[in-house]
Amino acid sequence: MSELSKSVPVAVLGAGTMGAGIAQVAAAAGHPVYLYDIDAQAIESGMDQLRKGLEKQVARQKITADAYRDLMDRICPCTELAALTGAGLIIEAIVENLKVKQSVFAELEHICADDVILASNTSSISITAIGAGLKRPERLVGMHFFNPAPILKLVEVISGVATDNAVAQTVYATALRWGKTPVYAKSTPGFIVNRVARPFYAEGLRILEEGAADVQTIDAIFRETGGFRMGPFELMDLIGQDINYAVTCSVFDAYYQDPRFRPSITQRELVNAGFLGRKSGRGFYTYQTDQQPLVATSPNAQPAKDIVVKGDLGVAEPLVSLMDTAGLTVDRQPEENAASILVDGVTLVLTDGRSATERAASERSSQIVVFDLAFNYLDSQRVVIAKADQASAAALTTACGFFQSLGKQVSIIDDIPGMVVMRTVCMLANEAAEAVYHGVATVEDVDIAMCSGVNYPQGPLRWADRVGMAWLLQVLKALQATYGDDRYRPSALVQRKAYSNTAFY
Ligand code: NAD
Repeated sequence: MSELSKSVPVAVLGAGTMGAGIAQVAAAAGHPVYLYDIDAQAIESGMDQLRKGLEKQVARQKITADAYRDLMDRICPCTELAALTGAGLIIEAIVENLKVKQSVFAELEHICADDVILASNTSSISITAIGAGLKRPERLVGMHFFNPAPILKLVEVISGVATDNAVAQTVYATALRWGKTPVYAKSTPGFIVNRVARPFYAEGLRILEEGAADVQTIDAIFRETGGFRMGPFELMDLIGQDINYAVTCSVFDAYYQDPRFRPSITQRELVNAGFLGRKSGRGFYTYQTDQQPLVATSPNAQPAKDIVVKGDLGVAEPLVSLMDTAGLTVDRQPEENAASILVDGVTLVLTDGRSATERAASERSSQIVVFDLAFNYLDSQRVVIAKADQASAAALTTACGFFQSLGKQVSIIDDIPGMVVMRTVCMLANEAAEAVYHGVATVEDVDIAMCSGVNYPQGPLRWADRVGMAWLLQVLKALQATYGDDRYRPSALVQRKAYSNTAFY
């Protein structure tokens, strides 16, 4: 793979949020950079944005004053396309409009040499469609940075139908030299991240719409049980409800209204109200006050006395070593069927996608309490539980006391199928599997993209392996059966792996 040497000039079209950041990245890697915009005012504010960001870095001693000056000296602002003819790579980061992008690239094709690589930073438009009007569409490639470009490492290198592999490889190798984490993707709606991340928001919204818990509690569960940096509601507020809703709608439409991507009415109403999140002062949260969010956490209950662990708890097995650490006396018994923890006559089971109520109807005991998947049972602060409708209130108190004696905070939610973390992780893994199945990206690249683009604590496919393919399939089937909604249909690849007892890694 040949990378662009740093003596090759790079041109960036559009000096807005993304363009200014990309120009900084290329200049920091040593390239002479042309920063072009049709609007002279935009260039000025783009250069200003750049300067301010870098001055902060100098103040924090992240870069030296000399490095800052050198970097700024390498960036040449311009308002004439003709000035870009010397560039070896042109990265377009202008307005998100197919016609405008096509016409700018057509113009560039007239004035640039045949071997200049043309790249688009589009987040939602087909690379194939952008290249369609070109004489040489094989040299057009997607180079999708994430905001803020100087900080976030992920770059999706996207090939359209006509893109030459060698062009994609050069862009990949160049991004790598720039200190980025590139991944390859096929031009399909949402590429990797904006597609695979959709269930993170969608399941959060559905869990809220089903009244299982409030916004603050669901966010805390995602963070403190799921290991995510942020919960879906605080993240949607940060991204902007309008932007997040528009991305969902665009992916939904681009996949011909596949129910997997169906947008949420709750979110649409927020957009209708102008409650766009942090930028408007109100979204799911209100930002004018210093109020700390109130997370529903159960008060202390009686610690457990009589504990029997039946069978292998699978992904939840670390709970057994926590019981040891807590000094609890545990009787371990083999079990052919579903594994469970029996605490003072109450059966605790990891959610398998069915509600506790459904399980209680089909199992001998009605005293059933389900608990949620955790990213890491040993370290996660919070455990999530829900009781079957048939179970007594005392059963819930017993389950609470048991998890509290393991040092956990407990959130009680309503009895919804698949709970919060399990259901979301299974849907993320299902979407990731679909992307792999349809050749959008490799298993490794999907996981790298989700960890480095949206900070997931681990890739959804790695997570699927830990949960187990059979369990993942069971959860999805249970969700599909309960809701009668094709949104939860298991990917053919998930089914195949579950039936052949194989893993992604
Ligand atoms: P922006 O509105 O901040 O900047 C766009 C700039 O392009 C403006 O300065 C505008 O004057 C300029 N422009 C418009 N038409 C032009 C033309 N014909 N020729 C030259 N300049 C032109 O937008 P942004 O947020 O930086 O987004 C730019 C691109 O990057 C879009 O395709 C967007 O989808 C994509 N993107 C955005 C983000 C993000 O988080 N903002 C992330 C990844 C990708």
